[in-house]
Amino acid sequence: MDNQETQPKKIRIGWFSFSCCEDNTIVMTEVMNDHWQEWKKLFDFRHARVLKSVNTMDEMDIAFVEGAIASDKQAQELKEIRQHAKKLVAVGACAVMGMPSAQRNYFNEDQQKQIDFLLARFSALPKVLKVSEVVPIDAEIPGCPMDPNDFLTKVNALVAEFQGGKV
Ligand code: SF4
Repeated sequence: MDNQETQPKKIRIGWFSFSCCEDNTIVMTEVMNDHWQEWKKLFDFRHARVLKSVNTMDEMDIAFVEGAIASDKQAQELKEIRQHAKKLVAVGACAVMGMPSAQRNYFNEDQQKQIDFLLARFSALPKVLKVSEVVPIDAEIPGCPMDPNDFLTKVNALVAEFQGGKV
């Protein structure tokens, strides 16, 4: 007789950071500290540089994206993430609204001239974009940084969707 329990399929997670201070990542790891026992049974972190050195870009159930999009390279990476993710969640004000990472969008002409060489050096986009200006998003968690309770509520709602077979 086979005594092995059938393990429920884990939810495949990606966590990605673009132009930002990465405080949402800190908040996520703090929430994880409190929930690691449930999360290790529930989640398969496919791609999360903050948690592991070897990362895989393949099919994900949920991709969390923090930070604003400041270059064409970042926009291409975000599009690739979108292609691999069933759900994409923008986390933190920079991802949701562009600000505060998008401060240069509001520079006057003189300030703009002073940073032109940097934009050229880093192949930056003329304007910094919020995530939804590049790809469609399924949910957003605002805040600078995000509120841990809001994050947990939205994570739990997504888990319930996956477990209920709605995704
Ligand atoms: S939203 Fe605020 S806290 Fe979050 S990455 Fe941007 S600057 Fe940092």
